[in-house]
Amino acid sequence: MTDFKKLINDYKNCSCGMKHECAINDIRIGSGLVYEVGNILKENNFPKKILVTADKNTIKAADGILDTLSDFEVSTYIYDNLRVATMDDVRLVEDFIDKGIGAVLAVGTGSIHDPARMACANKNVPLCLFATAPSMDGFASYSAPIVDSCFKITYPAKCPEVIIGDTKILAKAPAELKSAGFGDMISKYIAIIDWKVSALLTNESYCDRVCALTRFAVDNLMKMADKVTLEDEETAGAIFESLLLTGIAMSFTKTSRPGSGTEHIQAHYWECKELLDNIVPNYHGIDVGVSTLMILKYYKELALLKSVKAHKEVNDWETIYNVYGELASDVKKLNTPDTITDAIDPKDIEDKWGEIVEIINSVPSYEDCLSAMKVAGCPVTYNQIGKSDDFVKESFAYHPYMRRRLSLKRVSHMLDL
Ligand SMILES: [Zn+2]
Ligand SMILES: [Zn+2]
Repeated sequence: MTDFKKLINDYKNCSCGMKHECAINDIRIGSGLVYEVGNILKENNFPKKILVTADKNTIKAADGILDTLSDFEVSTYIYDNLRVATMDDVRLVEDFIDKGIGAVLAVGTGSIHDPARMACANKNVPLCLFATAPSMDGFASYSAPIVDSCFKITYPAKCPEVIIGDTKILAKAPAELKSAGFGDMISKYIAIIDWKVSALLTNESYCDRVCALTRFAVDNLMKMADKVTLEDEETAGAIFESLLLTGIAMSFTKTSRPGSGTEHIQAHYWECKELLDNIVPNYHGIDVGVSTLMILKYYKELALLKSVKAHKEVNDWETIYNVYGELASDVKKLNTPDTITDAIDPKDIEDKWGEIVEIINSVPSYEDCLSAMKVAGCPVTYNQIGKSDDFVKESFAYHPYMRRRLSLKRVSHMLDL
């Protein structure tokens, strides 16, 4: 197993100039750890009054966890089935803290963890995440995607002090959730391309070592694709480790940049639009995986161009805001008074095209990623995950405007194709 303490220490004083920090004190991955949770919290000096948040499924998966907390004064809040974390959920946890709760133990995955992560950051209290499925890579990150009025925004939030993964429980997680974790991980190849391209064309901060950490984690998981859906403790532990590593990479930059590119923005677009239509979105990693394949195919096609002619981006804002409908005012804020591509010189793209092609070619082929996803049990087409042709055509064209972050997709809007 990775020595996380050593890893975090090794990234301090990096030559890139960024301060790579990760506030996690203790990461435990092992069989039967659900029976040790109380002791682990005590070892980490958690205060007596704690709130346990979970939903009916996750508290059942972590059966026995409450019995280990006999030395604590425990309040519980069990959601029915929390699939979409909203600002109300954040406020709910904050209210508990205002009434004297000194720490939070969140039992589940993303949607349970995210409100706790943000509330604990706002109120400055310790947080322990107990993972019940290796379904996404947000465990170690400093941000929380929260939905507010149907708009999903990634807020700065708290990196937990303690993370616990019981491999017995992780291995028993539903296959769909494990496949979702794989889908969330394969997206790192796009994240890497987008970050590198942006660093090449703008002065966005970038670190080769953090990028390499993400790459190491996703390559590792690619090798395990055929074991992802098995009920195997060793594999489940290894998947969880990979997910934590990319989470730590994101905490090192305090942005999601090392682990999320334009494929995540497109998946957010889907999610927001579906929320507006009262549709419960798919598991994050399921949508992200399919989005990754679409973007990867497009990027690999771009890489076939030997040279390019570039121009300033021409945006028909009226159409763009029309497409966003109720979300338009939020999108407008991200694109006024200027938009992310304004500062890019088209000539620079033409001159550096060779380097951009090299960046694209540095990640595995579309075909390799497609077959890995298939063996990992992931859906691979947007029809399989309930999206229509028109909806996806629209999302592909317009998703980049909902985030102020440069991607190769956005750069491609500046090319004469
Ligand atoms: Zn660095
Ligand atoms: Zn993700």
